[in-house]
Amino acid sequence: MRPDYVDFHAHLDLYPDLRAAIAACDRRRTATLAVTTTPKAFARNAELAEASEFVRVGLGLHPQLVAKRSGEIALFKKLLRRSRYVGEVGLDAGPQHYRSLELQKSVFQRILRLSAGEGDKILSIHSVRAATLVLDLLEEHFPSDRGTVVLHWFSGSVGEARRAVTLGCYFSVNERMLASPNGRRILQEVPEDRLLTETDGPFVQRDGKPIGAGDVVRAVEGIAILKRRSVASVQSLIVDNLRDLKISCRDTRIEYSAE
Ligand SMILES: [Zn+2]
Repeated sequence: MRPDYVDFHAHLDLYPDLRAAIAACDRRRTATLAVTTTPKAFARNAELAEASEFVRVGLGLHPQLVAKRSGEIALFKKLLRRSRYVGEVGLDAGPQHYRSLELQKSVFQRILRLSAGEGDKILSIHSVRAATLVLDLLEEHFPSDRGTVVLHWFSGSVGEARRAVTLGCYFSVNERMLASPNGRRILQEVPEDRLLTETDGPFVQRDGKPIGAGDVVRAVEGIAILKRRSVASVQSLIVDNLRDLKISCRDTRIEYSAE
């Protein structure tokens, strides 16, 4: 069934009740990518999302956890066959994680090569203070015909955003990103057919409480204002973009509806 909304980066397993968070996405008819932060978390997410119509699970190894969990790359490799989606992965060069940057780079590089090797993967990528580095590694280790990249909550410069567009990246945008001047500038650089929405829940808060699972309504409204389009047309554009993205790197013999 066609979804009404898209939440392409949510940490459903960090809500108090994963089952309830999945149910909320289904109720809202939000096609949701439930990213995970360690390979060990994948199995339970996959099990609980199995019966869900709208929730898919990403196999992740979060850059902020690489310092402690880099050993789980072996499990990542083992599980990769089971997941078309990879995330959350990437690099974080913020002050708290800068010390592990070299290790992060080697783990991320490994993840990119493994994903490119299998092909047809869709990646949700974190790039805090490391946009250029992420783009360099993508260019080197993840040929655009081997999968698709979605940059989550991109906070690089306008120039870096332009380069990402040239490399074929999509952008998943949340309501907090749209509240910042840099986020709005980036949105202007992103072609409409490369846009997706996300909540980044439960990290993104609204009125002091975690944003609802799959609640991207304000992100859609924010994009509509900035792109001078109607809310309904943006809502449908984003759903179309997800459909196109899922088809783009896939062998056309495999049906989209089988997903
Ligand atoms: Zn995240």
